[in-house]
Amino acid sequence: MFSERLPVHIDPLRMVEARRVLQGVLPLAEMDRLQSSTVRADGEVHVELEFGTDLEGIRYMRGQLRAEVSLECQRCLQAMAFPIDSRFALALVRNETQAESLPSHYEPLVLDGEPLFLRDVIEDELLLALPIVPKHPEGVCQLAVPRQHERDTQTDPDSAKKVNPFAVLTNLKIDG
Ligand SMILES: [Zn+2]
Repeated sequence: MFSERLPVHIDPLRMVEARRVLQGVLPLAEMDRLQSSTVRADGEVHVELEFGTDLEGIRYMRGQLRAEVSLECQRCLQAMAFPIDSRFALALVRNETQAESLPSHYEPLVLDGEPLFLRDVIEDELLLALPIVPKHPEGVCQLAVPRQHERDTQTDPDSAKKVNPFAVLTNLKIDG
């Protein structure tokens, strides 16, 4: 397990030229937006970053983040551990015009010529990895009984969809 702290600022274009790989940790406690989006986030995020240029000449920063935070289950309102294991691919662009022409597997990161404040980028990606409506997994939530009822009432429309109303028509056409 690597545990070196990541640099606070980086020059992303120099990282790209050198095809650098960075590994390290950042303390979650320093991320104010993450703190206000979670019940608890007091550990570290383990970060792996890779810089380079792809075959189309796009400069990229790819990464993987691993962390664990505590969220509030929106069904029972109890805390739930939520492991984050998230990958991202950012294309380093100079302006919005370049950002608009990117392939869809990249998110744009518009550079302003200043050193990149790495923690903000990592925090953005962690926030994107959080579920919009956090809920305990099935069988763990304290409100499992009402949830079961909810599922039962949904069974009928689901099974009805499986019957294809045109199946009969198709048979008729073949027969004719
Ligand atoms: Zn719950």
